[in-house]
Formats: sequence, structure tokens, C-alpha cells
Amino acid sequence: MTESTPGAPTNARVPFRVKYWGVRGSIPAPGPDTVRYGGNTTSLELVAGDQTFGIDGGTGVRLFGNSLMKRAPVNVTFFMTHLHLDHVQGFPFFVPFLVPGNTFDVYSALHNGSAVEDVLRALFAQPAFPISMDDLSATITFKRLTMGDSLQFGPLHIHTRRLHHPGGVVGYRFECDGRSFVHASDWEHPADGELDPVFLELARDCDVLSVDATYTEDEYHGRAGPPRRGWGHATHEAALRHAKAAGAKRVLLFHHEPAREDGQLDEIAIALRDMHPNAAFVREGEVIEL
Ligand SMILES: [Zn+2]
Ligand SMILES: [Zn+2]
Repeated sequence: MTESTPGAPTNARVPFRVKYWGVRGSIPAPGPDTVRYGGNTTSLELVAGDQTFGIDGGTGVRLFGNSLMKRAPVNVTFFMTHLHLDHVQGFPFFVPFLVPGNTFDVYSALHNGSAVEDVLRALFAQPAFPISMDDLSATITFKRLTMGDSLQFGPLHIHTRRLHHPGGVVGYRFECDGRSFVHASDWEHPADGELDPVFLELARDCDVLSVDATYTEDEYHGRAGPPRRGWGHATHEAALRHAKAAGAKRVLLFHHEPAREDGQLDEIAIALRDMHPNAAFVREGEVIEL
């Protein structure tokens, strides 16, 4: 028999939430035209139980780091989707790396033969940057991930799949206490209009799907500028078609094209509203409670 505290909530759920510190793809896009959706490149914070995780290190990770400084020392595990610049370029300005007592594990799969530590060593180097990896006083441990691996951290189960992107990209499915969050950034759908079976399996019946939705159909097919087929990103329509087919309950369209202004994202969202009952372009700073 267990005792309960009078007035304490029963069936308390394990905390499971995501915060978007950066939602932009390819290159930061600050300015008055992107102020509502945000201009920082990709960085997510994920809290599951009493543990904090990060996904990628675009320029949004600078803000994530500043928030972590308020509760140092911290222990954070990062998962890398892949190593393109917009997913790593914020790490040189991630202040918690400089603070002794902080500990980080950083998981990455090989991307074109390189791991995240190889890319960081190149970023933290003269003449482009004055601080070297040896100057980072936090304890940083790099860990290898093989796409397809499953991992477990306390109440958090993680499944990974290799998705279609130049050099490959890790798609993540996070499950905690009966709830699921799938992050599939930098994914390109089949160009022939078919559905991607690996994507569908990863996202099947998830509560929240965070998905690459970079291009309009006109951009992708070359009716507005160069054709973007093979560049590794999805159209808004393809992302929503896959979300619907997978049974995703809520969709957060992510990795916004850098030239896309706030008003254009609003207009596109209205045009797409019949494609999925619960979809929106995610905004920098948005917190999703799962
Ligand atoms: Zn990207
Ligand atoms: Zn990429």
C-alpha cells in the first residue's frame, strides 16, 4: 500500500516537452520580416523526466546555452541529425561548453565519413575562430550512433532511422510515458509523388511530428527559381501528405526556407489548412508539451 499526500495530483505524468530555439533552415535569416517565426537555425531542447537533451547546434543553440547558464552545472545529451552547417554553426557560441563542471554527451552518426567532433574541430580553429577545442572546460564526450540504433535514457526511448538527405540524416522518434515526438528534419520526399515507407514507419501514429517543410511545390519543381529536387528537403504539401498517411496527430512544419517572410508563412498555412487538421509552421521559442 502506498501513501499519497493530500492534495497532490494523482497519475502525475512524466515531464516531456520540446522547446524550439531555432527553426530556420540553411542560414540564419534575422530581420523585421522573420521576427515572428524566427531567424535562428535549428536547435531544439527536449526535456524527458528530469533529463535535458538537445537536438542539433544551429545558431539557436546560443540561446539554449544562455538558458542553461542560469542553472549550471548542467548535464545535457545532444543528438545530431547530421552535420550540415546550419545544424552545427552555433556550437562555437554555446557558452556552457566553456564552463568547468558542465558535462555533455554528443551523439552523431557518421555523415559523409565524418563525426560531429571532426566538424567541431574544424569550426573551433584558427583563423576562423580564436578558441580551440582544448579551451573548452566542460567535459564533452562524443558518442557514435549508427542509424537504426535504439537508445534508452531513463523514461525516454529513442528510435532512429536513416532518412533521405545528401549524406544521410538521422530521423528520431522519442517516446516517453506513452507519448511520442518525431523529428524528421532535412528529409526529402520521393520526387515521383510516392510515399516514403521509412518515414511513414518512423512517424507512425505519433503525437507530434516535427518535419522538414522547406519548399513550395513551385520552388521544388523549378517553376520559381532553380529546381530544388535532390537538395534534401521537402515541400509543404509532401510533408503534410506524409504526416496524414503516417497518422501523425499534430504537425509542426520546420526548417523554414531562409527567404520566407512571416506573412508568406501565414499565407501558406492558410492555403494548406485542408491538408491536415492540426498543422502549423513552428515558431522560434515555441514550447510543445507532449
Ligand atoms: Zn538543414
Ligand atoms: Zn542538411
